[in-house]
This record gives sequence, structure tokens and C-alpha cells, in this order.
Amino acid sequence: MRAADGVVLVTGGSRGIGAATCVLAAGQGYAVGVNYLQDATAARRVIEQIGALGGRAVAIQGDASAEPDVPRLFDTLQEAFGPVTALVNNAGVLDRQARVEAIGAARLRRVLETNVVGPFLCAAEAVRRMSTRHGGAGGVIVNVSSRAAVLGSPGEYVDYAMSKGALDTLTVGLAKEVAAEGIRVNAVRPGIIDTAIHASGGEPGRAARLGPGLPLGRAGTPEEVAEAIVWLLSGASSFVTGAFIDVGGGR
Ligand code: NAP
Repeated sequence: MRAADGVVLVTGGSRGIGAATCVLAAGQGYAVGVNYLQDATAARRVIEQIGALGGRAVAIQGDASAEPDVPRLFDTLQEAFGPVTALVNNAGVLDRQARVEAIGAARLRRVLETNVVGPFLCAAEAVRRMSTRHGGAGGVIVNVSSRAAVLGSPGEYVDYAMSKGALDTLTVGLAKEVAAEGIRVNAVRPGIIDTAIHASGGEPGRAARLGPGLPLGRAGTPEEVAEAIVWLLSGASSFVTGAFIDVGGGR
């Protein structure tokens, strides 16, 4: 693998899939912005792990769905390592398993804020900085969607699945909008991955329960998703845009 010299912002980079992406990207030479919302200790752990590999990273607190925070995430990373060349829209939330008729507007708005408004605002900021139309040098955006966008998550969280469907549409539309401006936009759709997100759904053991029923016979790991994300970040995927990689173990 050749050494990369990009500067990548990973939203929600302190835990789970985001953390694995930060570590893998840093190991390949990227300078990494490890964004987190509240768990500073987890972010510090990722920074230490990257430091031990000889990599470069900075922890950046901020709400990736809050309009005033978004430019600051990019500015902080740029001050540390130079202009941002890549964005991984990874931050995402789900709420407790419930049927549609039990889901109210407050929950729906929270899920859509983080999973749709956030990636949209971050992608817009990335385009303002990276597009050749605005004097930038081009770049890459990877959206972390979900197989839920296709499967719908009935009986669990249709609101979450719907938010990932919107993220898929952003991927398709933005990819075409900025293709001639030096920016590629793609998405990964992880299936059931063993992270702490399932605890927010009220079932910390969900990956262990459902993993054996998948075609590959187990849940995935954050590192397996990171491999697909970092490939999409890299020059190895230079002719790929508006595309989706399913990392779902066959489901
Ligand atoms: P996770 O372990 O729960 O980690 C979530 C990360 O997002 C944390 O670093 C958290 O930071 C951060 N975060 C949450 N809201 C944020 C906000 N508003 N601004 C900035 N950071 C925020 O989640 P995960 O399982 O790794 O999931 C990562 C992505 O993969 C999500 O988009 C998720 O929907 C998607 N995905 C996951 C699975 C799966 O099975 N795990 C499957 C399909 C798709 P703090 O800890 O500081 O709050």
C-alpha cells in the first residue's frame, strides 16, 4: 500500500467504525481529525493509538450536525495539518427499538438532525473548501450509510433506516453535482457490526444475537468497514463515484 498524504476529517471518529477508520487511515499516512461529541476519553484513546503507530491526528470536539460547529471542525484540522482533502461522514445515531406508531416527532428530528442534516452540512462545507469551482484542489467524501437503508429495519427503527435512505440519495446527487469539480462522493453500507451503537437501541447484544443468522455466519467488525472506507478515500478508487459498498456479510 502506498503512503497517503491526505488530510481527512472523520465525524464521530472516537468510537466504533469511526475510530477504526481513523486508525487505519493514519496508519496509511493520512493526517486525521478525530471528531467526537462528548466522549473526550475515547477520542484521546484513538489519538494515543495513532501516536503509537507514528501517525498524525488531532481530536476535535463538536456537534457535526450543528451549523456553527461544522466550519470549526474543518478549520481546526486545517490549522493542524493543512487543507482538508477528505471527509468521512460517519457520525450517526439510532434510538430504542420501536414500531413506527410509537415514534414521535422529537425522536424523529433528533435522528434526522444527526444522520441527515449533519452529513449534508459537512458535505457542503467540504465542497466549499475542496471543489475546483471554489479554487480548491479536489477531494473525496465517504458517507457511512447502512444496509438498513435498503432493508428498512421493520420493528426496530424505521426512522433510522429512512435517514440512511436520505444519505444514499445525497451520495447519488452530490456525486453527480461535483464530479467535474475534482470531488468523488461514495458510501459504504455496513450491516450488523459489533459496536456500542446497539446499546442505544436497547439491545447491547444485538450483534451477537443476529450475527450467526447472516450468510457469513457472524457480525462484522469496525475494522472490516474501515477497510472499505479507506479504499474509497484512496487513489485506488479513482474511477469510483456515486457508488455503494455493502459491508453486510451477505445480508
Ligand atoms: P458508535 O459506536 O455509537 O459511535 C458513534 C460515534 O459518533 C461516536 O464517536 C460519537 O461520539 C459520535 N457522534 C454521535 N453524534 C455525533 C454528533 N452529533 N457529532 C459528532 N459526533 C457524533 O457508532 P458506530 O456503530 O461506530 O456507527 C458509526 C456509523 O456507522 C453510524 O453512522 C451508523 O449509523 C453506521 N452504521 C453502524 C452499524 C453497526 O451495526 N454498528 C451498521 C450500519 C451503519 P461521542 O461518543 O462523543 O458521542
